[in-house]
Amino acid sequence: MTQVVWDTWVEVSTETARKMGVANGDVIRVTSPHGAVELPAYVSASLHPGAVAVPIGHRYAPFHVPRYVAAYPAPTNPLALLSGGADPASGGPLFMGVRVTLARTGARRPLAILQATHDQDHREIAQHIDLRAAREEALRGKKDEPGHGAISMYPPQHYPNYRWGLAIDADRCVGCGACAVACQAENNVAVVGKAQAAYGRQLHWMRIERWAEGKPEHPENIFLPMLCQHCEVAPCEPVCPVFAAYRTDEGLNGQVYNRCVGTRYCGNNCPYHVRRFNWFNWEIPTPLEVQLNPDVTVRQLGVMEKCTMCVQRIVAGKDHARDEKRKVRDGDILTACQQTCPTQAITFGNLKDEGSDVTKLAHAPRTYTVLEEIGTRPSVTYLKKVVRTHA
Ligand code: SF4
Repeated sequence: MTQVVWDTWVEVSTETARKMGVANGDVIRVTSPHGAVELPAYVSASLHPGAVAVPIGHRYAPFHVPRYVAAYPAPTNPLALLSGGADPASGGPLFMGVRVTLARTGARRPLAILQATHDQDHREIAQHIDLRAAREEALRGKKDEPGHGAISMYPPQHYPNYRWGLAIDADRCVGCGACAVACQAENNVAVVGKAQAAYGRQLHWMRIERWAEGKPEHPENIFLPMLCQHCEVAPCEPVCPVFAAYRTDEGLNGQVYNRCVGTRYCGNNCPYHVRRFNWFNWEIPTPLEVQLNPDVTVRQLGVMEKCTMCVQRIVAGKDHARDEKRKVRDGDILTACQQTCPTQAITFGNLKDEGSDVTKLAHAPRTYTVLEEIGTRPSVTYLKKVVRTHA
């Protein structure tokens, strides 16, 4: 919900923050009858003024590293606020319902917040539709694939065998982030640490955007998993001086690591901000190297990277289908994000197959593509969130 990475923070309402004179990153001392912790503030418009919220289970600080011990002198583990007793009804640890007081410390510990705003500013990146309108549209039935009726200066692209695509249902997405973690594990995506993440150098190929619509104190939250859109008319490709970004005849936007010279023109020209640059040779300390996926290249300093739609799984799926002397069909290939999503919000498949689930979703009444007006014709389509408007 907050898009804060690393650290633990104390979420305070806008009203409380104004009364205390604190802003994001100002350290607050939170005291309960059982203990106290000092945490940076995260100001929230939607939290009740009489409540604070502290996430449990995050990484507070790597205390084996001396410079962090100096930077985090006060206890930051929120479990110190709890009694440690058992809940009488369930027998589980008593996590909730402790009364706390807050005090400003005057210190600052800025948070790494990956999304600067939750306001779409009328850009309609994450779209929603009223339940009644969604029903009416469903009755009207199938529609053209979004963006594909637009006039283009470019010749139409032909796909001799497959055209891979993803459909993401914003109505099913609960913003849990499991898909982003699965992608990171599958594709050997490096962990960059708090300082680099705060500097905008995070490497995740997927991010879960949260957009808030309506009144700030009661927003309608829409979660939008964002990844390379594998555009048919990809803005990243013509600006690459060495043709490292190119389009495959299966509709994937490929990236040749060996050719990339790190100019980052492609990243600057991507309207979706989904290309990631390796500023360093990231550390993979022992024993973490054993979790690296041997089917995926470990990228190095100076190379641009982004979602491949799990191309290693596509290759394996095609090999399997070829051995059985048939074409790939639904279920042969699952991308890591799709496989992990608990609500089955993500569907992968062949857009050339009229009967595939992804093709049906690409023509569904609720379907749209992000920034359709710029004519990139993405292979990733989204289904609008369905909301109930109260008259
Ligand atoms: S795993 Fe599924 S529900 Fe969770 S954030 Fe990703 S798409 Fe949304």
